[in-house]
Amino acid sequence: MKTIFGIIGNPVEHSLSPLMHNSAFRKLNMDCTYHAFRVDPQDVHGAVLGAKSLGFGGLNVTIPLKEKVLEIVDADPIAKEIGAVNTVDFKSGITGHNSDGIGAKRALEACGISITGKNILLIGAGGAARAIAFQFAHEGAALVLANRTASRAIKLAQDVRSVGDAIGTGLEDLPKLIDKAEILINSTSIGMHPDTNKTLVTADQMRPDLVVFDIVYNPVKTRLLREAKKAGALAIDGVNMLVHQGAESFRIWTGVEAPIDIMEDAVRCALKC
Ligand code: NAP
Repeated sequence: MKTIFGIIGNPVEHSLSPLMHNSAFRKLNMDCTYHAFRVDPQDVHGAVLGAKSLGFGGLNVTIPLKEKVLEIVDADPIAKEIGAVNTVDFKSGITGHNSDGIGAKRALEACGISITGKNILLIGAGGAARAIAFQFAHEGAALVLANRTASRAIKLAQDVRSVGDAIGTGLEDLPKLIDKAEILINSTSIGMHPDTNKTLVTADQMRPDLVVFDIVYNPVKTRLLREAKKAGALAIDGVNMLVHQGAESFRIWTGVEAPIDIMEDAVRCALKC
């Protein structure tokens, strides 16, 4: 009998996770299937407990349920720090994990970039930024968190300082902050469809030795990444993180290393790039 996996959230219809995981299951001849389930916050307890009772292999969790799921899972330390769960596993009780930060780390590593000891400018202070900030602080990066709402970046930096090096600020001094950074990460939604011509940083503010990582993946080639290429900087797109966070969920559920290339091809093909 097939083992069922899924993603819960709302909206969830456009998630690329079913495509990504089903292509991995097919490649590895695993008798498993992965589906998207629309679940509202008031139903999240029932959905997770129901999936456990029905013998599901595991769940991904997306907006707006990532924080609420914490109430019903036994969360691992980093998911607790981040305050959000994107992976639920049923092997031993109901455990909660967050693979976003590790996905971002592996996306950079796959492009030959180590984060340990690096000066990293992380723009944004939302859910994705929080996951990246905690993971990267654990890895020994020195973080500057810059956000439109400066108070959110300052609060996040204060939280992250319990595990590593972080300061928080607004966006006013971005040019100076970029000069001091080795890696610039956009974790805001700026540049995302439909406002694809927006960017917070332009080529004239970048250097060829800067690494520019945009976690936005719709579109894949964001304006920020086009600006980075113009400046001769290394440009890394958000598909890398999407695939690596998915691969980590896959590993947590199955104990098997995911076929990254197959997952990436499936996603890039769907996004037509
Ligand atoms: P979120 O929690 O809603 O956070 C949004 C962030 O964007 C906040 O820092 C917000 O600043 C900032 N922002 C929004 N509009 C802005 C504007 N006009 N000017 C300046 N800053 C603005 O969202 P999230 O879940 O962190 O996701 C952020 C992006 O990452 C989305 O595009 C999402 O698709 C992408 N993402 C990608 C992956 C991946 O695997 N590649 C994973 C997760 C998320 P304020 O605090 O000032 O509002």
